[in-house]
Order: sequence, then structure tokens, then C-alpha cells
Amino acid sequence: MNRVVPVVSGLIVRDGKRILEAHSSATLILSERTILVDTSSRDRRSMLEDGLARAGVRPSQVDVVVLTHLHHDHMGNLDLFPGARKLARVEESPGKGIEPVAGEVELSTGVSLMHTPGHTEGSMSVVARAADATYVMAGDAVPTRDNHERWLPPGINIDPQLALSSMERICRAGDVIVPGHGPPFPSRRER
Ligand SMILES: [Zn+2]
Repeated sequence: MNRVVPVVSGLIVRDGKRILEAHSSATLILSERTILVDTSSRDRRSMLEDGLARAGVRPSQVDVVVLTHLHHDHMGNLDLFPGARKLARVEESPGKGIEPVAGEVELSTGVSLMHTPGHTEGSMSVVARAADATYVMAGDAVPTRDNHERWLPPGINIDPQLALSSMERICRAGDVIVPGHGPPFPSRRER
């Protein structure tokens, strides 16, 4: 059965509207394939390396890196995984070395990719069925727990209504949400 292991708990520090510091969450999915969702920022490199080591995974053993979108605070450590397949949604116009994803994709048994636009056009979430719960790694489609509790779209968005409808779909898709910036929390399925 799949296992979901948070390796970096993301963080965002704001001063009013200004973002002072941002490091994304990074989450490991141990399934038929070893999948990493986001890599956090360069500043969190040692935390990422330590988290992988604690899970017993060497960077070279990561088969696939899924990027929820292409903001730098989510992809600062991509260079640690030269041998892995790297995936991002086609709408993000991924550059060299990153495969564009379109449609709904099942990456391995119980692990699928879901297009959840709103923060950016090509924001993508990863849904992973594990023994203890179904997790949704939402990236900045749900940037923090506060967005979920107060039902606020991401502060940075291309369309607030679209962002909220993606949040709705994320809530229905799983029991536990891993936000773009913060530790996992239980999803409110019914709103
Ligand atoms: Zn972002």
C-alpha cells in the first residue's frame, strides 16, 4: 500500500500583502514508484535531504518529481534529482527537461494528477490513496490551512472563482490536504 511522507513542511511569511519568505512543502509518495511532489526552495535543501534520508530514500532513488506549478519556491532543489522524470502541467510551459502533462494521469496505482487551476493556469494537485487516508498535495491551489478554514482563494491568483472551484474539488478528493506552505490538515469534505 502507498505511503505518504511529508519531508519539508512549507512556510510563508507575510507582512500585509508583501511576501517576506516562502518555502514550499515537499512530500514523498512511496508507491510502485518513488514520487516527490515539489522540492521546496534552495534555502530548505538540507531539510529536504534530511527528510528523504529519514524516509530511507536517496535522491537517486526518486523516480518522478511532480511540480505542482513552476514558481521558484517549489522547484529550488530540482537539480538534486538529475535522473528523475520531472512533470508539470502543459499550461505552465515547462522548459527543457520537464515533461508537460495534459489530462488526468494515473502515475502509479492509487496516485493520480489533477488539474487544479486558479493560482496559476497550470496548477496541479496530486491525489494519493494511502493505507491511513487519501492525501491531496495541493501546491498553491491551497497555499495554507488558513485559505481552507476561511475559504479564501490564494492571494496570488488568475481567477478567484476558478481557484475556489479547484479548492472545492481538492476537498472532495481527499481526507488530508498538504498545502503549498504548511503541514497537512484534515479536509472539510462538505462545505
Ligand atoms: Zn506559487
